[in-house]
Amino acid sequence: MPLKSTARRPRVAHTLPALHRAIAELRGRNASLALVPTMGALHDGHLSLVRLAQRRAKKVVVSIFVNPAQFAPHEDLSSYPRTWKEDVAKLTAEGVDLIWNPAAAIMYPDGFATRLAPVGPAAAGLEDRIRPHFFGGVATVVCKLFTQSRPDVAIFGEKDYQQLKVVTQMSRDLDLRVKVVGAPVVRERDGLAMSSRNVYLSPEHRAAAPVLFKVLKACAARLRAGEALAGVLRDGTSEVTNAGFALDYLEARHAETLAPVAASSEGPMRLLIAARIGSTRLIDNVKV
Ligand code: AMP
Repeated sequence: MPLKSTARRPRVAHTLPALHRAIAELRGRNASLALVPTMGALHDGHLSLVRLAQRRAKKVVVSIFVNPAQFAPHEDLSSYPRTWKEDVAKLTAEGVDLIWNPAAAIMYPDGFATRLAPVGPAAAGLEDRIRPHFFGGVATVVCKLFTQSRPDVAIFGEKDYQQLKVVTQMSRDLDLRVKVVGAPVVRERDGLAMSSRNVYLSPEHRAAAPVLFKVLKACAARLRAGEALAGVLRDGTSEVTNAGFALDYLEARHAETLAPVAASSEGPMRLLIAARIGSTRLIDNVKV
């Protein structure tokens, strides 16, 4: 892709004073500001959020922070892919204005003792059932990112659908005055949702991985055609399991509240899946 005319390396802030200085300069006379929170290892999914941010605001900040507070001790914090140089090159090509890249000790200095405990969509019984520590860590870091950079808008991917709902609720509940905007899932050509964790997949598991989207699409089509939920989910479950996955959940939920729904007559539906293959855990979702 050709470099945009603004292909100048973004400013990079590693400390809070540097962040505040850079943001004051970017905002100048009230330029609007969008934040795109990421954990780095950037792919086209992240870049689509950046492009949406550029349409929604004059200036764009991307945070790159692998947030220890959302990983359980047995999870992949230490092995999570870190590709700083490539990330900066990609954000330069996109014409991003500022990268916020704090160290863990800046985000959580010695003596840090506060953690949000979100409920509502964070207690829907999906990701929270499998990763009980996760949304407390996400809500805490996103709340900090919002108060540190004070954006007008923040862009989150629908790829992490429950997270999008949790963050939207948190911003509203805490009067943070940040409009949370969702962006559609970006996929590989074979349908696999892009994820920084896809690099963990062996060639054999990578070949099996598109089954998740295939099953979601097929289930959504059958539900739209009026088939009963139980049979549709039963078939979906067997297909995913037969492809070698261990299923954490395949569920139909209300697209806004994430409450369980039995039929599309109960409101807009979202189908959500999480499954493990080898040591990799993948999630995905589609609109019904
Ligand atoms: P992460 O770096 O995985 O924490 O993701 C940062 C942001 O990018 C989150 O809002 C994710 O939902 C979003 N994101 C990750 N993968 C995709 C994708 N394939 N399509 C759209 N957004 C994504």
